[in-house]
Amino acid sequence: MIDSFPVIGNIVDLLSKLPGVGEKTALKYSLWLVEHKEDSKLLSSYLNDLGNKVKLCRKCRNLTLNDDGLCDICKDSSRDGSTVCVVENIENFFAIESSSIYNGMYYILGSSVSSYGVDIHNLGLDFLINRIFQENVREVILVISSTIEGDLITQYIKERLKNSKVDITRIAYGIPVGVNVNFIDRTTLVEAFKSRRAV
Ligand SMILES: [Zn+2]
Repeated sequence: MIDSFPVIGNIVDLLSKLPGVGEKTALKYSLWLVEHKEDSKLLSSYLNDLGNKVKLCRKCRNLTLNDDGLCDICKDSSRDGSTVCVVENIENFFAIESSSIYNGMYYILGSSVSSYGVDIHNLGLDFLINRIFQENVREVILVISSTIEGDLITQYIKERLKNSKVDITRIAYGIPVGVNVNFIDRTTLVEAFKSRRAV
C-alpha cells in the first residue's frame, strides 16, 4: 500500500532509522505530518538548518553554528583550559553544563560508545591525548559509565597519560557498577561529578 505513495514511503524509511522508532510509529508520524501542513513545513525548515548549519566542533565535538568550526565553549577565554571533561555524548554534556558546577573544557566521545561495545579507534582518543599535552591540561575528568566499555576507555587514557603529571579522575558516587551514565538521572550525575575520584 505504502509503495503507491513514495513520498510517504521515503519519510517512513527515514524516520524508522531514528532510535526507538519502528515502521509502525514512523507511518503514524508521517500521516500526522500530512494532516498538519504548517508543522510539516516548519519541521522541514528546521531539518534544513540542522543539515546545513549545525556542525560538530572540531576541537571538542560539541554542536556549533560557528563558521570557524569551534563551539562557543572552546572559544570562551573565561573558561578554565586546564581541565577537560570527557563525556560519552552530547546529552551528558548538556546535563553537566546546565548544572553550572563546571567551568572547564570538554571532549565528547560521541555515538561510538554504546552498551553494545566500543570501537576505541573511532573515539578520537589520540586527538584528545595530543590536545591534553598541547594545552597543558592538568586534570582530565571522565564522565564515563562503569561498564566494560567505560573501563576500557579509562584504561586506555590512563595508559597514554601514565608518564605525565595530568590527574585523571572519574565519576563514581551513586553509579553502580555496570550502569550506563545515560540511564542515571541528572541530579545523580551531578553528585557523581562532584565526588569524582582519582583513577
Ligand atoms: Zn568545542
